[in-house]
Amino acid sequence: MSPVADDLIRPPWTDEQVDGLNAYQKHAPFHEFTCGNDDCRAGKPDPRSRYAPLRATSDGWVCDWCGYRQAWAFRGMPGLGHESRD
Ligand SMILES: [Zn+2]
Repeated sequence: MSPVADDLIRPPWTDEQVDGLNAYQKHAPFHEFTCGNDDCRAGKPDPRSRYAPLRATSDGWVCDWCGYRQAWAFRGMPGLGHESRD
């Protein structure tokens, strides 16, 4: 197992961490975190929910369509979205 996988951050998250995590969702060179609900990923609640990216809040990740929550992230994630991809 990767040592990175064991290095988790859990809410409450600071504003800076929330900003970083949401930047990761939009810009990181890796797949974003998505909702765990199959209906969401299939676009059933709303076509925009397809692939259902989670949104970071100070209380953790939330799915805007079904309320699914996830309360952990990898420690390195908040910094990754701000790295340049030039
Ligand atoms: Zn969902």
